Amino acid sequence: MPTIFTKIINREIPATIVYEDDLCIAFRDINPQAPTHVQLIPKKEIPRLVDGQPEDAALLGHLMLAAGKIARQLGVGDAFRLVVNNGADAGQSVFHLHLHILAGRPFGWPPG
Ligand code: AMP
Repeated sequence: MPTIFTKIINREIPATIVYEDDLCIAFRDINPQAPTHVQLIPKKEIPRLVDGQPEDAALLGHLMLAAGKIARQLGVGDAFRLVVNNGADAGQSVFHLHLHILAGRPFGWPPG
Protein backbone atom coordinates (compact mmCIF):
# COMPACT_ATOMS: atom_id res chain seq x y z
CA MET A 1 0.00 0.00 0.00
CA PRO A 2 1.72 3.25 -1.10
CA THR A 3 2.22 5.91 1.57
CA ILE A 4 3.31 9.52 1.60
CA PHE A 5 6.91 8.24 1.46
CA THR A 6 6.26 6.69 -1.96
CA LYS A 7 5.14 10.15 -3.10
CA ILE A 8 8.49 11.52 -1.88
CA ILE A 9 10.37 8.77 -3.78
CA ASN A 10 8.38 9.66 -6.92
CA ARG A 11 8.87 13.42 -6.40
CA GLU A 12 5.10 13.90 -6.18
CA ILE A 13 5.51 15.89 -2.97
CA PRO A 14 8.55 17.94 -1.96
CA ALA A 15 11.18 16.86 0.53
CA THR A 16 14.68 17.94 1.41
CA ILE A 17 16.60 14.97 0.09
CA VAL A 18 20.05 14.48 1.63
CA TYR A 19 21.00 11.14 0.05
CA GLU A 20 19.78 8.83 -2.70
CA ASP A 21 21.01 5.70 -4.43
CA ASP A 22 19.40 2.88 -6.40
CA LEU A 23 17.91 1.24 -3.30
CA CYS A 24 17.13 3.98 -0.82
CA ILE A 25 16.51 7.65 -0.24
CA ALA A 26 16.95 9.90 2.79
CA PHE A 27 15.26 13.22 3.52
CA ARG A 28 14.81 15.67 6.39
CA ASP A 29 11.96 14.90 8.77
CA ILE A 30 9.12 17.40 8.48
CA ASN A 31 8.72 17.50 12.30
CA PRO A 32 12.28 17.13 13.58
CA GLN A 33 12.83 15.72 17.06
CA ALA A 34 16.52 16.66 17.13
CA PRO A 35 18.75 19.20 15.34
CA THR A 36 19.47 16.47 12.79
CA HIS A 37 16.48 14.23 12.03
CA VAL A 38 16.49 12.35 8.75
CA GLN A 39 14.25 9.60 7.44
CA LEU A 40 16.08 6.84 5.57
CA ILE A 41 13.77 4.58 3.58
CA PRO A 42 14.10 1.75 1.09
CA LYS A 43 12.57 2.46 -2.31
CA LYS A 44 10.91 -0.93 -2.02
CA GLU A 45 7.59 -0.70 -0.16
CA ILE A 46 8.10 -2.74 3.01
CA PRO A 47 5.39 -1.62 5.47
CA ARG A 48 7.11 -2.58 8.73
CA LEU A 49 10.47 -4.07 9.66
CA VAL A 50 8.69 -7.29 10.60
CA ASP A 51 7.38 -7.54 7.03
CA GLY A 52 10.92 -7.86 5.67
CA GLN A 53 11.60 -11.19 3.99
CA PRO A 54 14.77 -13.26 3.63
CA GLU A 55 15.21 -11.84 0.12
CA ASP A 56 15.39 -8.36 1.69
CA ALA A 57 18.52 -9.21 3.68
CA ALA A 58 20.90 -7.36 1.37
CA LEU A 59 18.56 -4.36 1.21
CA LEU A 60 18.27 -4.17 4.99
CA GLY A 61 22.04 -4.40 5.33
CA HIS A 62 22.40 -1.70 2.70
CA LEU A 63 20.17 0.59 4.80
CA MET A 64 22.41 0.15 7.83
CA LEU A 65 25.53 1.00 5.83
CA ALA A 66 23.73 3.95 4.22
CA ALA A 67 22.72 5.23 7.68
CA GLY A 68 26.36 5.42 8.72
CA LYS A 69 27.37 7.02 5.43
CA ILE A 70 24.62 9.65 5.73
CA ALA A 71 25.48 10.39 9.37
CA ARG A 72 29.11 10.97 8.38
CA GLN A 73 28.02 13.08 5.43
CA LEU A 74 25.92 15.25 7.76
CA GLY A 75 28.81 15.65 10.20
CA VAL A 76 27.26 13.56 12.99
CA GLY A 77 29.02 10.27 12.39
CA ASP A 78 30.43 10.11 15.93
CA ALA A 79 27.09 10.44 17.77
CA PHE A 80 23.73 9.57 16.35
CA ARG A 81 20.78 7.33 17.13
CA LEU A 82 18.88 5.05 14.75
CA VAL A 83 15.24 4.34 15.55
CA VAL A 84 12.80 1.98 13.84
CA ASN A 85 9.24 2.11 15.14
CA ASN A 86 7.53 -1.16 14.18
CA GLY A 87 3.73 -1.04 14.48
CA ALA A 88 1.29 1.59 15.69
CA ASP A 89 1.70 0.66 19.35
CA ALA A 90 5.44 1.30 19.01
CA GLY A 91 4.81 4.73 17.49
CA GLN A 92 4.85 3.91 13.78
CA SER A 93 2.63 6.33 11.87
CA VAL A 94 3.88 5.87 8.28
CA PHE A 95 3.68 2.28 7.11
CA HIS A 96 6.69 2.32 4.84
CA LEU A 97 9.79 1.06 6.66
CA HIS A 98 11.98 3.95 7.77
CA LEU A 99 15.06 4.47 9.89
CA HIS A 100 15.05 7.66 11.93
CA ILE A 101 18.57 9.12 12.02
CA LEU A 102 18.68 11.47 15.01
CA ALA A 103 21.60 13.57 16.20
CA GLY A 104 22.66 16.87 17.64
CA ARG A 105 21.39 16.61 21.20
CA PRO A 106 21.81 14.23 24.15
CA PHE A 107 19.59 11.12 24.07
CA GLY A 108 18.32 9.43 27.19
CA TRP A 109 18.33 5.71 27.87
CA PRO A 110 16.06 3.82 28.07
CA PRO A 111 14.20 5.57 25.23
CA GLY A 112 10.71 6.89 25.92
P1 AMP B 1 7.00 7.04 12.57
O1 AMP B 1 6.13 7.71 13.60
O2 AMP B 1 8.11 6.21 13.13
O3 AMP B 1 6.15 6.29 11.56
O4 AMP B 1 7.73 8.20 11.81
C1 AMP B 1 7.18 8.87 10.72
C2 AMP B 1 8.00 10.13 10.54
O5 AMP B 1 7.75 10.64 9.27
C3 AMP B 1 7.68 11.22 11.55
O6 AMP B 1 8.88 11.59 12.23
C4 AMP B 1 7.13 12.34 10.69
O7 AMP B 1 7.47 13.62 11.16
C5 AMP B 1 7.77 12.04 9.35
N1 AMP B 1 7.06 12.55 8.19
C6 AMP B 1 5.74 12.38 7.90
N2 AMP B 1 5.45 12.98 6.73
C7 AMP B 1 6.60 13.51 6.27
C8 AMP B 1 6.95 14.27 5.12
N3 AMP B 1 6.06 14.59 4.18
N4 AMP B 1 8.24 14.66 4.97
C9 AMP B 1 9.16 14.34 5.90
N5 AMP B 1 8.90 13.63 7.01
C10 AMP B 1 7.63 13.23 7.20
